[in-house]
Amino acid sequence: MTDLAQLIASAGYCKACATMRRVAPCHKCGADLIEPHPAWEEPAIPDVEPIRRLAREVGYAIGVHGSQERDLDLIAAPWTEEAVSAEQLAEHIARGINGRVLAPGPKPLGRWACNIAIDGWFKLIDLSVSPGGVHSADTPTKSMQTAIELHRTLIAAPEQSLQRLLDEMSSRALQAQQETSENE
Ligand SMILES: [Zn+2]
Repeated sequence: MTDLAQLIASAGYCKACATMRRVAPCHKCGADLIEPHPAWEEPAIPDVEPIRRLAREVGYAIGVHGSQERDLDLIAAPWTEEAVSAEQLAEHIARGINGRVLAPGPKPLGRWACNIAIDGWFKLIDLSVSPGGVHSADTPTKSMQTAIELHRTLIAAPEQSLQRLLDEMSSRALQAQQETSENE
């Protein structure tokens, strides 16, 4: 008996998670399992290493997250000054593994994501690309500068004045909130 046949004999398929389970109901989503067709063959999870190699060629590092069941969840982080755009990265990977880019688009906090479907019987790749972020460490943003100054003040302050400082901060925050709601 092959591993797959053994698995099918002892388990069912969770449609919600798109994966085989050893025990019913699905431990992850609680759904009942169905009996897969005897000819059903689970699509393979794509190999990460060729993707890592391709990403490195264009300035990115790849991290794997998620359970690697429904799809292969990858996070790409720009790693070198030569890092290409998120779109170019996705195209470069897709070309290198005989796949194509699907559903590209922006995500919260400047993230960019797409799916890559490999030609053949494979699960989808879900690629999330982190934004370039802060380019120069010596030009902090305004909010970062405020945080740095606040941190310095906190370190320098004697303990009894910390409470006063916190009170001051919360009253300022409250004031800002009130001003915002008055302007609405
Ligand atoms: Zn499930």
